[in-house]
Amino acid sequence: MEKRERIYEGKAKIVYNTDDPDLIIQYFKDDTTAFNAAKRGTVINKGIINNKISTRVFEFLSSQGIPTHYERRLSDREMLIKRAQIVPIEVIVRNKAAGSICRILGLSEGMELAFPVLEFCYKKDDLNDPLINECHIRALNLASEEEVETIKRYTLKINALMGKFFANSNLELIDFKLEFGRYKGEIILADEISPDTCRLWEIGTGKKFDKDRFRHDMGDIEEAYQEVLSRVDK
Ligand code: UDP
Repeated sequence: MEKRERIYEGKAKIVYNTDDPDLIIQYFKDDTTAFNAAKRGTVINKGIINNKISTRVFEFLSSQGIPTHYERRLSDREMLIKRAQIVPIEVIVRNKAAGSICRILGLSEGMELAFPVLEFCYKKDDLNDPLINECHIRALNLASEEEVETIKRYTLKINALMGKFFANSNLELIDFKLEFGRYKGEIILADEISPDTCRLWEIGTGKKFDKDRFRHDMGDIEEAYQEVLSRVDK
């Protein structure tokens, strides 16, 4: 497998072609953004840590029957993945209130939710990824009805699996974001799963081990991400 030209650069990752038309490489950068890129920064070694955490989570989910884009980790910052066509929707799951739901619904952070909340956002940077519902998805032809059903089914299963996975590391999965892609006619889990895309609070102390440390200038970001890696890697 040979690495070829760069095909895309996003906020936290770069994507490269390979000599295999079905496979691409995602390269994890140290760059970090928050609040729709209004806040930017760099977290030393974040790319290496997130590549390793994402590898562990994708290997776990694959072993539990979730179809994913993950093939294998190639190096510190590179992961070989299937070339999926990304569905332009961010799928968010919330188990406790934090972040935007607190602002929108006037909830206090950490409030128990009696039922997991599933949200969809339209992936469109110039609109700041607005919240949408299933009617918008159908109306804008972002995904078919069958694809939405599959995405919801996988997402709820992933929430249950990841909740247990992180609880084994004494971390509570507060909320997270997923992206899915189409590959050879099937929906598969794509993108990354890391402290950039999940809120993780230590069970017992409530200490934050995620991107909120960057969003709210709480310090020790690299240390927190590294601690997540050490806990899930044991
Ligand atoms: N999230 C993400 N990418 C986004 C928006 C959200 O990974 O573009 C994750 C975020 O890290 C959190 C969850 O999705 O774990 C819910 O995010 P929320 O809507 O509260 O976002 P915020 O406004 O706090 O960034």
